[in-house]
Amino acid sequence: MDFLAGLNPSQRAAVEQTEGPVMIVAGAGSGKTRVITYRVAHLIQKGVDPFNILVLTFTNKAAKEMRERIMKVVGSEAKNIWMGTFHSVFARILRVEAELIGYPRNFTIYDTDDTKSLLRSILKEMNLDDKLYNVNHVYGRISSAKNNLISPQEYNKNEAIKAEDISNGRPQMGEIYMTYAQRCYRAGAMDFDDLLFKTNVLLNKYPEVLHKYQHQFRYLMVDEYQDTNFSQYLIVKRLAAVNENICVVGDDAQSIYAFRGANIQNILNFQKDYPDVKVFKLEQNYRSTKMIVNAANSIIANNKNQLEKNVFSDNEEGEKIKVTRAFSDNEEGKIVAEGISQEKALKGLKYKDFSILYRTNAQSRSLEEALRKLGIPYKLYGGTSFYQRKEIKDLIAYFRLTFNPNDEEALKRVINYPRRGIGDTTVDRIMVVADQQQVRLWDVVANAQMFLDGRSAASVGNFGTMIQSFQALAKTNSAFDTAMHIAQHSGILKELYEDKSVEGLSRYENIQELLNGIKEFSEREDLEEKGLDIFMQDIALLTNDDNDKDPNADTVSLMTIHSSKGLEFPVVFIVGLEENLFPSQLSLNSRTELEEERRLFYVAVTRAERKLFLSYATSRYRWGTLNNCEPSRFLDELNPACLDLDFKPRLNTGGGSDDFTSERVTWQRKESSGDVFSKPKPKVVKTTSILPKAHVPTAGFAPSDTSGLQVGMEVEHERFGFGKVINLEGNKPDIKATIFFKELGQKQLLLKFAKLRIL
Ligand code: ATP
Ligand code: MG
Repeated sequence: MDFLAGLNPSQRAAVEQTEGPVMIVAGAGSGKTRVITYRVAHLIQKGVDPFNILVLTFTNKAAKEMRERIMKVVGSEAKNIWMGTFHSVFARILRVEAELIGYPRNFTIYDTDDTKSLLRSILKEMNLDDKLYNVNHVYGRISSAKNNLISPQEYNKNEAIKAEDISNGRPQMGEIYMTYAQRCYRAGAMDFDDLLFKTNVLLNKYPEVLHKYQHQFRYLMVDEYQDTNFSQYLIVKRLAAVNENICVVGDDAQSIYAFRGANIQNILNFQKDYPDVKVFKLEQNYRSTKMIVNAANSIIANNKNQLEKNVFSDNEEGEKIKVTRAFSDNEEGKIVAEGISQEKALKGLKYKDFSILYRTNAQSRSLEEALRKLGIPYKLYGGTSFYQRKEIKDLIAYFRLTFNPNDEEALKRVINYPRRGIGDTTVDRIMVVADQQQVRLWDVVANAQMFLDGRSAASVGNFGTMIQSFQALAKTNSAFDTAMHIAQHSGILKELYEDKSVEGLSRYENIQELLNGIKEFSEREDLEEKGLDIFMQDIALLTNDDNDKDPNADTVSLMTIHSSKGLEFPVVFIVGLEENLFPSQLSLNSRTELEEERRLFYVAVTRAERKLFLSYATSRYRWGTLNNCEPSRFLDELNPACLDLDFKPRLNTGGGSDDFTSERVTWQRKESSGDVFSKPKPKVVKTTSILPKAHVPTAGFAPSDTSGLQVGMEVEHERFGFGKVINLEGNKPDIKATIFFKELGQKQLLLKFAKLRIL
């Protein structure tokens, strides 16, 4: 069977154009990822060796899914394709080549925690104010230098950078960067940005290495190209320089990582770099209904900076997008959970057909709570990864030390855990001595008798001997036996076993889970090398998403919009559409940042295949205080013809009609006076509008006795605001009042619970 029949003519043309530079810049859901998948399968069918193909994806999960699909066409050969994220692919290459640039082959990868911890100690040593030199800021600055391939030496020589740091009141940034780089080097460690930075160093400095990989990777493909940074761009450019068989796909409207240094310019530069590039257009969206595609187009039209693109859908019209207002984050959670139950029953769907997307991880709490209450199974993506848990990191720190005793962050983490009488003073002493003698921390530990005195020499010496015994053991034993031995002899298992609290028990179980994982790994038959060092490699690169044990489990998916990139779900809920949350407060100062938020909203909307729900709350707990929230401006920007509101807005259709027209209509803020029953006044508002504000009870609000309530009376409700009683029914104490609220329209309330004040 001709498997290419599953492509439309432009997609097929892009797949068959296997030679030379190819670029596809196309809208969401138009089959970009599908083209890459088919292209790889097609290449292999044409006889290209999978070892010669390199595919760079944005998540490891995406790579895994792609490989599985290709496997269906070409069989197990697909295992040999080089495929993964930039970080995982180049970590793998660096393991082979590290010694050339002065790193051990089993270098450690410092994760964000390690990096921050190291930066904190440097700031402390330099006596710098950690409010001014905020660790996140410092980290961001170093990260962005690396992603722009600015070495510490260049950083310190660059007058413009120096001037910028001085004007920001942080003149010592350059020195921090230099010290940080030296410390990482001394520890045989690379942080995430180093994996790309050092790859560039390697390819730049060693032409023979560059040559080797240029010939190895005869075909290169990059998905989500719009989110590559300069460092990634240059790696790709260098590797592709000989064969120029490079195919990149992306969508400028979905660029959402500028805050991490991604550069849309890379798309534009591509045409300059490869003047004979073949450009393919994909305009048909296969993922979503017409309604969703129209809504998405109406959002992105508000961005000034974008490439001209036409996106249409030939799928069914589809249902309108449901917009719901909740009074609080908890109520929003409840509405979403109930919405899922209803929609599932109504349409005969599975839980895994649903996804809930939010702007920030913190929003998951109220949603999780509501889902649990209704017994809806869910999976949280991108939360704390298993490998980020404290107890797991503790044990892994012992593994890290075993294979790389110079790993200073691991050393500091466990030198006195479990407690063995090596206090902070001793640890400080070790650092001072190492500095004075110009040796590594490990040299001091391994030769404690020489460098330290008295009791600390003995306890530090014992620790050193223990690590050395682990090293000896690891040389001859299986991954599992080594790991088990370390868990026992480090004292970690005993420490956790003796903690009888619920948390202690769960930590103990997590360690068991890790050991189980290592046992499975030890017994794998498809691997030649299965020592603990191999298991350890790249654990720092794993995220929760990659650790998905059962992808077929029937669970609702919860994740941030950032991690939903490239994915699709039949039904999507986007929650928290409020000003200062989405768009985020931090983005409101510049057009560039606001446009990035809008692209994020575009990404979110375009994940939906059949039905989309949007919601916002009028009050929300943030940082421990209850805040009133305004609906997001993005709601205003959506084409109103696509929306189905669950509350009665005041429409400004120009003609007083109740139907939405394609003209931009809007909701009006509560009026200070006027009859609630009067018809909405025709009023055309062009672009900006303000949605109803949360009700703030008038000063001194106290529910009053409602036993004398009568039809026609005006009332104030604690949350619903002002209204008029239009009906009363039932008998005491179960009287129900139908009240028409100014902002919300009609509601029926059970009087005995309603917090009402008669005006
Ligand atoms: P995004 O911008 O979100 O990454 P994309 O452009 O990569 O989207 P894909 O994920 O490749 O789009 O495709 C979207 C959906 O449309 C997928 O379910 C895919 O299988 C389907 N699809 C794409 N092209 C076709 C086609 N020619 N025939 C049928 N289905 C298609
Ligand atoms: Mg894609």
